[in-house]
Amino acid sequence: MDCPRCEIELMPVENESGSFSCCPECSGIWTDVSELNRLLLRHNLPVLEKLGGHVNHDDSLGMCPDCQIELVTIEGGERRSMAYDTCEHCGGIFVDTDSEETLETFEQAVEAIIGFYRRFQNKPQGK
Ligand SMILES: [Zn+2]
Ligand SMILES: [Zn+2]
Repeated sequence: MDCPRCEIELMPVENESGSFSCCPECSGIWTDVSELNRLLLRHNLPVLEKLGGHVNHDDSLGMCPDCQIELVTIEGGERRSMAYDTCEHCGGIFVDTDSEETLETFEQAVEAIIGFYRRFQNKPQGK
């Protein structure tokens, strides 16, 4: 399975509580919605559909590595500066975590993904 953005092979990163596929190039993480929701709940975050966000159909990042159909971009965070991508067919999620380090362990991947969704759910300040 290849990274939808870099088209290089994703690396499996796992432990006994779950698994992700991480891109060694862009620190993107490929996961599925049930896995992600479990993780979000465990870190006191709302599940994905309650996090909000705005669908952007114009700015597609790439293809689902499983289904080979176009991913849908969901924008959120402050001034919609953040985005993740989802496959409406298989429920796959691609998160570009912006992590500066290569994600090599499950713990690093969890930290990166939770950090991303903490910022993603932030409501704009003031007003
Ligand atoms: Zn990548
Ligand atoms: Zn898919």
